[in-house]
Amino acid sequence: LTRKTFKGGVHPPDNKASSRGAAIEDAPVPDLVVVTMGQHLGAPAKPVVAVGDGVKRGQVIGEAAGFISSNVHSPVSGRVVRVEPAPHPLGKPVTAVAIENDRADAAVDGYGLPVRWEGMSAGEICAKILAMGVVGMGGATFPTHVKLAPPKDRPPIDTVVINGAECEPYLTSDFRLMVENPGGIVEGLRIILKATGAPRALVGIEANKPEAIEALARAASGLSGVSVEEVPVRYPQGGEKQLIKTLLGREVPSGGLPLDVGVVVQNVGTACAIADAVAWGRPLTDRIVTVAGAVERPANYRTRIGVPAGALLERSNLKPSARKIIFGGPMMGLAQYTSEVAVTKSTSGILALDEVDSSPARGCIRCGKCVEGCPSGLVPSMLSVLGEAGRFIQMGEWDAADCIECGVCAYVCPAKRPIVHYIKRGKEALRQARAKGAAK
Ligand code: SF4
Ligand code: SF4
Repeated sequence: LTRKTFKGGVHPPDNKASSRGAAIEDAPVPDLVVVTMGQHLGAPAKPVVAVGDGVKRGQVIGEAAGFISSNVHSPVSGRVVRVEPAPHPLGKPVTAVAIENDRADAAVDGYGLPVRWEGMSAGEICAKILAMGVVGMGGATFPTHVKLAPPKDRPPIDTVVINGAECEPYLTSDFRLMVENPGGIVEGLRIILKATGAPRALVGIEANKPEAIEALARAASGLSGVSVEEVPVRYPQGGEKQLIKTLLGREVPSGGLPLDVGVVVQNVGTACAIADAVAWGRPLTDRIVTVAGAVERPANYRTRIGVPAGALLERSNLKPSARKIIFGGPMMGLAQYTSEVAVTKSTSGILALDEVDSSPARGCIRCGKCVEGCPSGLVPSMLSVLGEAGRFIQMGEWDAADCIECGVCAYVCPAKRPIVHYIKRGKEALRQARAKGAAK
């Protein structure tokens, strides 16, 4: 059976072989964790602890500061030693709470105790998810409680999509989670179905992960309305809009969201975090992180948030030849200037690279490769030229806001133009201009 898929995309080398066999292992928890308040899209959380305070594992240390925001919890028990700006994976420092770990792991009441959630209403489930700090763990970190409660004027959600595509090269954290804890993902899926009222769910997994497809299919067997689907290997198959197109043939409109076509998409890691939060009283304070690339021992770590990247890289024996550290994968990941930057809820991987292409960018030769490859149907060449010239407002007319920052255009560009960099700057400038009413 050949399934139709989205337009555009590429087939970069997947480079997953080095870590896909690495079973999830618990990373040691250091003496000091530095937990940023910017764990999610939207307003950073507001710190609610002060220097000198004792905290327990799972205690709220940052409260959601607005509608698009989320709570942040302590990943250890210990004492708060600093509340101040610290390095953040997105670049600019953000307020963080540094906690000295007392190694007692004393947790808040109810932590890890089973909860009978079946009797909870949709509103109660969403409130629990907000309280427990669950955000999208596939990269976008959109607060999950907002995604599960669409505005009343939208069509009802008829399908939940669980995203197990993991199309980024090198990353295998979702793969290991699917193979090792399919039951947790399915429990999360049942909670999502209850919260959204959707009658059916599709789990989309790329064809290069047969063990994951089998594990999920077994765990979901007997659940009515749930089916596990193999999807073609093609980057960025894991983009929400691309996965919806592949699985359902539905086109999310320009400027729109999955809920505009009756769909909610949740990553497999998020589904598991929902189960932990709602069914087991465990706030989101850890996640699986792939460490790969220029390391002697590629691995998949279960690590607490707030652990510095350097500690995980050291445990994997970072090679002296490593020249660049990336949070995420090579297509969408972000280069880091310090290994002090700590793991957040969205850190799916830490990649060390020893080969860095430093050839200079040239002018566009109008080869059209970026246009052919763009999965969002944009004209990246034009966007890059406008961005380079600082004509950000005009980028809006070329639908810059629809760019999913997948990196395909920059990957295929023979002139090595930093297209995504220009588009990101343009999107930010547009957002600010729109907020001031200076652009449409
Ligand atoms: S313009 Fe955006 S969506 Fe299109 S290929 Fe480039 S990064 Fe991807
Ligand atoms: S791929 Fe690069 S050189 Fe080719 S049209 Fe796009 S921006 Fe221009």
